[in-house]
Amino acid sequence: MTIHNLGYPRIGDFRELKFTIEAYWKGEKTLADLEAQAREIRYNNFQTQIAAGIELIPVNDFAYYDQFLNMSTLLGVIPQRFRQDEYDVEVAFRMARGRAPSDDEICLPGHDHQPNKSKAGFACAMKKWMDSNYHYIVPELYDDTEFKITDTRLFDEVAEALALKQDGNNIDFKPVLIGPVTYLYLAENVDNVIPKLNRLPELLEAYEQVLLKLAEQGINWVQIDEPILGLELDSEWQRALVDAYHVLKVPPVKILLATYFETLGDNLELACQLPVAGLHYDGVRGEAQLNDVIEQYPADKVLSIGLVDGRNIWKTDLNAAVEQLQGAKAKFGDNLWIAPTSSLLHVPVNLEVEEKLNPELKNYLSFAKQKLDEVKLLADVLDGKGDEKALADNAKAIADKKASKLVNNAEVQTRMAKLDEVALERAAPYAERAVLQKAKFNLPLFPTTTIGSFPQTAEIRQARRQFKAGEISEAQYIEAMQAEIRDVCERQERIGIDVFVHGEPERNDMVEYFGEQLDGYAFTQFGWVQSYGSRCVKPPIIYGDVSREKPMTVFWSQYAQSQTDKTMKGMLSGAVTMLNWSFVRNDQPRETTCNQIALALRDEVLDLEAAGIHMIQIDEAALREGLPLKKSDWAEYLRWAVKSFHLTTSGVANDTQIHTHMCYSEFNDIIESVAAMDADCITIETSKSNMKLLDAFVNFEYPNEIGPGVYDIHSPNIPTVEQMVGLIEKAAKLIPAERLWVNPDCGLKTRGWKETEPALTNMVEAAKVLRKQF
Ligand code: GLN
Ligand code: ZN
Repeated sequence: MTIHNLGYPRIGDFRELKFTIEAYWKGEKTLADLEAQAREIRYNNFQTQIAAGIELIPVNDFAYYDQFLNMSTLLGVIPQRFRQDEYDVEVAFRMARGRAPSDDEICLPGHDHQPNKSKAGFACAMKKWMDSNYHYIVPELYDDTEFKITDTRLFDEVAEALALKQDGNNIDFKPVLIGPVTYLYLAENVDNVIPKLNRLPELLEAYEQVLLKLAEQGINWVQIDEPILGLELDSEWQRALVDAYHVLKVPPVKILLATYFETLGDNLELACQLPVAGLHYDGVRGEAQLNDVIEQYPADKVLSIGLVDGRNIWKTDLNAAVEQLQGAKAKFGDNLWIAPTSSLLHVPVNLEVEEKLNPELKNYLSFAKQKLDEVKLLADVLDGKGDEKALADNAKAIADKKASKLVNNAEVQTRMAKLDEVALERAAPYAERAVLQKAKFNLPLFPTTTIGSFPQTAEIRQARRQFKAGEISEAQYIEAMQAEIRDVCERQERIGIDVFVHGEPERNDMVEYFGEQLDGYAFTQFGWVQSYGSRCVKPPIIYGDVSREKPMTVFWSQYAQSQTDKTMKGMLSGAVTMLNWSFVRNDQPRETTCNQIALALRDEVLDLEAAGIHMIQIDEAALREGLPLKKSDWAEYLRWAVKSFHLTTSGVANDTQIHTHMCYSEFNDIIESVAAMDADCITIETSKSNMKLLDAFVNFEYPNEIGPGVYDIHSPNIPTVEQMVGLIEKAAKLIPAERLWVNPDCGLKTRGWKETEPALTNMVEAAKVLRKQF
């Protein structure tokens, strides 16, 4: 039985790569420094994996910026605007970041990158990798794109790895490549004249050359990732997979075809019949078809099964995993390989470095380094040589977690048992609520507002830092935040905004802020995961029943309201977004966890209302992000996502106005669910699409109020009155004016006041211009 790995995090235990790359970008470090750091990380990763007993170790899972980008530069898929005589690492950085990047021009985590196409050196687009929070640089295909090997990095790294092979150490290296069909599937066909699939034969020639070269270097196995096998493919793409691997079977390396994050669905038979030497299958996400795969896959080939989850941070139940693998072991013998489910890129690097986690919780967790040990132990146990003590410890941790007081909260469970008793509808339908709300808030036509956050100034950050470090008292910290709130109220007054926000100065992050105050949520010190390029995120861990000890935002909102006669919007992050940006417990359905968060938020909403905050926004930025990979699973996800919004909001009076906000979303295929949420008002990001994203609402005849964003907050440019008038006019042709709001695309926390104040002043002016026309 071979123990292998599909990919290891490349950021380093303490994000060393991030810091070195950013220093290099700033000119503070040389390319030689960067290369040395990269070599060190690769070396350490190899050593870690060797020490853990991994026998077939991934190479080419390293990247300065992105693996997909590496694939593009390897294949010579470099857009004309970045081409130069000699290929070097700068080309890749420019493709990823554009020619004159500043860090905040790049989007917030989770945002799909929207390059400014008018700039000559605009960056390539960035998209989410399958359903993970990792973002890849989208390859651009033009009519004149030729695939030819340009970049030697892959072969250099292979040589570097092979040098570690010694007589007697039972290790080998396995280069990892994005599969040709997945590569094409996810590429952007810019000119769109040559159909994508017409390029496959030429692309395969390039892959063949790569494989030949690797074989010459002494490589035996290559892992080729085709995760699109987990998608619902039409016959054309299925055919392409068959064609591709009939061509690639010729070179003298063995191919391990890897699929992960999903079941194979209708691609099961196809995947089992492809002429490759082996298949890797994700037994966690793909559990429903694991036995089918074991049954259908030919016994004379390698079947690799992952039961150690590469997408989550929980210890694997090894006894259960051993059970699940008995049949495969009997059928495949040594042809059964053991690995994590996917690359470990998606989990934090090393649990050992965490010093502040509750030791009980820590004992339930496993990060990348620990997952290697789990893979090894699992294989050993299957081979009848497992460490009994380690296996018993694992069983104890799994059992302890089930019974744990940390995890189980009787009060929450009682409340959850009575979930059906909570009415999901607001008391009156929107049309009736709207009349009451119009009378109560007495707003002008085209009311102006913002999405919640205002610039997070150096002073705010400093006060937060000092408070965390114990350098200032809580009272001083509160005073600093209140001063900030007073300041933003004065500014909004001056600018003439109709509905105020408090500016969120007390929030570092829209999930962390709430998670820190909720029971059942934990935060790590170093649990970073790469999101894109040098950007990492530190998702919180939802480990237990979620509950709210006391109000989380009432204090701030109430204070803010006391500073003005204008309506102050309360501001909460929604349950689905909290869920989708966290590591979630795997011992109950996601729906259950989501409902628990929703109930905690419901209490917060009612407390806000009781405290006199009668307009409350619940951000669901990540609603779309949580869509499953298979379209046939969307309806079920959307059902419970919408339900959680109802749980959060249905308790308020008819004249309390509920807002929601969603950025970076396409709405066409989810509009029915968005409408079903029945928020009195939704604000969305539309400025960059020139209001195109409104179409979904128009076609659906969306009945409630909408605030289509009138300016892009990712850019420091100040939008003119005319530009915004133009956009609002456009919107007013599509949506009745009485239902339109005027607001920016998203929160303003990454901006400075220098551009924010004039931008909002122009926005208010634009609303006034429009009011004269209607
Ligand atoms: N209220 C949040 C803010 O303004 C919303 C952020 C988001 O949608 N990403 O920052
Ligand atoms: Zn937003």
